[in-house]
Amino acid sequence: MKLRPFDSGGIMLSYRCQCGCRHCVYACGPRWQDWMSRDFLENLLRGIKETSGNPKGFHLAGGEAFLNFDLLLLAVEKCNELGLPLEYVETNAGWCVDYETGLAKLKALKEAGLRSILISVSPFHTETVPLERSLTAIRAAEEVLGAGNVIVYMWQFIDLIARFGRENPVPLKTWIEVFGPEAAGSLFWDGYALIPGGRAGVELGFLAPNKYPPEHFAGKNCAEEILFSRHVHFDPYGNYIPLFCGGLSLGKVENLPSFIEIFDYRKLPLIKILVEDGPYGLFLFAQREFGFNLGNKLFAGKCHLCVEVRKFLQGKADFEELTPQAFYENLRSHLPPLEE
Ligand code: SF4
Ligand code: SF4
Repeated sequence: MKLRPFDSGGIMLSYRCQCGCRHCVYACGPRWQDWMSRDFLENLLRGIKETSGNPKGFHLAGGEAFLNFDLLLLAVEKCNELGLPLEYVETNAGWCVDYETGLAKLKALKEAGLRSILISVSPFHTETVPLERSLTAIRAAEEVLGAGNVIVYMWQFIDLIARFGRENPVPLKTWIEVFGPEAAGSLFWDGYALIPGGRAGVELGFLAPNKYPPEHFAGKNCAEEILFSRHVHFDPYGNYIPLFCGGLSLGKVENLPSFIEIFDYRKLPLIKILVEDGPYGLFLFAQREFGFNLGNKLFAGKCHLCVEVRKFLQGKADFEELTPQAFYENLRSHLPPLEE
């Protein structure tokens, strides 16, 4: 089984983000410092262009890409120069302290070649970004880029968040107190369609409406996600992250076309297990080789189980696919714990 060449994906300029949301599949947050180097960025964009022939589209993201605005501008310019289809820049809008700031930054990005933006709005982002900033960013983006080029992910949360106020952040705990854990859990997991990987399962798994023992995931392998999805994320360290599998790397990319050409999943022992047997197979491996015990723990989805087992395995041996290490150190948000 060969790695199918990607046709869409995200370029993570950093894991750094002032939000540190509890649902973040890449475990981003304020403790991270590094940014993608300019040289690597240019090399990567050229490699993407060369590899993906007729790409559907790529987005630029962090962490929070606006925290290094010069690098973001450069990335937009280079995409434009290379003729790479840049779908959007993704932002949490925390930087948009007033309308003028929003206009100035978005005009600069438009001049660099940006056509579209995705602004995140959710109970998770509102823990650190007041709704007012999101709405200001939306207004400014509509003015500069045109309403049809502003994606708000997710519109339907705006009215709900507004009930708690627009000027201040709203702790997630408040939602749980107001709606109760069941309704809040269903709103978060079903309403937002949370991906249970990264920090989401670790921080919010206890609120998931449906939770399962590890055996439930027996036989659910990850060949589709790892080898065939054609969607990829590149992190600032050069890791090739399949689909949304934060903390899992198929390797560090230098020459992208040859990386795809010669990639053999059987050379990475944990990737091999995940491709063939999924996270339950990984759990059995961790149990057999290292005595891992999950007790009676239940999981919100297969990626939640996967992250839990990988967190245990990271550092047990030199598993090069479990990287960056800081992903595993940041699986708990810097925000106050939700569970008693
Ligand atoms: S999900 Fe939250 S923590 Fe993760 S990158 Fe987006 S805004 Fe930052
Ligand atoms: S279970 Fe693991 S390898 Fe499979 S899709 Fe989820 S995060 Fe990726």
